[in-house]
Amino acid sequence: MCANLGHLEDDLRALEAAGCEELHFDIMDGLFVPNITLGADFVRMARRCCSLPCSAHLMVFRPERYIDRFVEAGCASVTIHVEACTHTHRALAQIRDAGASPGIAINPATPLTKLDYLLDYVDRVLVMTVDPGYAGQTIIPSAFERVGILRENLDYRKLEADIEVDGNINVENAAILATQGATILDLGTASVFDSRKPTASAALGEALGAFRSAVEERRKTV
Ligand code: ZN
Repeated sequence: MCANLGHLEDDLRALEAAGCEELHFDIMDGLFVPNITLGADFVRMARRCCSLPCSAHLMVFRPERYIDRFVEAGCASVTIHVEACTHTHRALAQIRDAGASPGIAINPATPLTKLDYLLDYVDRVLVMTVDPGYAGQTIIPSAFERVGILRENLDYRKLEADIEVDGNINVENAAILATQGATILDLGTASVFDSRKPTASAALGEALGAFRSAVEERRKTV
C-alpha cells in the first residue's frame, strides 16, 4: 500500500536485496475499514517479482470468505481481525488447513482479553498501533503497554507466537516496541517509504538498511 506501484518490481527487488524479510499486504474491504486497497491478484503479481514470503493482513469483515484465495495467491501467512470474525477458531483452522500460518490482529481499542482463547491457535499476534485504514497516522501510545502485557502473557503460557506491530513504526517507536517484545515490525511511510514523493528503488534499500541500524542503536538507550 505504501510502495510506489509505478515501479513495484524494482522496489521489491531492492528491498529484498537490502534484507527485507517479508512483504506485508494490507487488504481493506471498505467496510471493516474505510479504505479499499489491494487484492489477491496483486499478491500473485508481487510473488512473481521476488522471492520474499508474503503475509496478508485482512482488514475485512467475514475474512473466511477470502482466506483460501490469498493462500492460493501465494501468502505464507494470513492474519485476520478478532473484531471482524464471528467463528474465529474455525477461521484460524481454515488458514492452517489451507497450508498457511495463521495470525490474529487486534485494534487499539479492543481489550487484550479478547485474545485469551485464541493465542494457542496462532503463530503471530498483530497489535494495531493505530486504527487501521490509512497510512500516515500517529501511534496510539497505549500500544507500548499492550505489547508488553501481551509478551508477558505469551511467556507465561509458554507460547512462542511473534508479536507484530503495524502503524507509525518509526525509529523511536520501533525501539520501544521491540524492547517490549515485538518481533515483527511493519514498515510504512514512517520509516522506509516516502508518501510525499516517489523514492528511487535504490534509495528504498538504503532507507531499510539505515532504519535497521538506527533502531539497533536507539534500543541501547531504551
Ligand atoms: Zn497491516
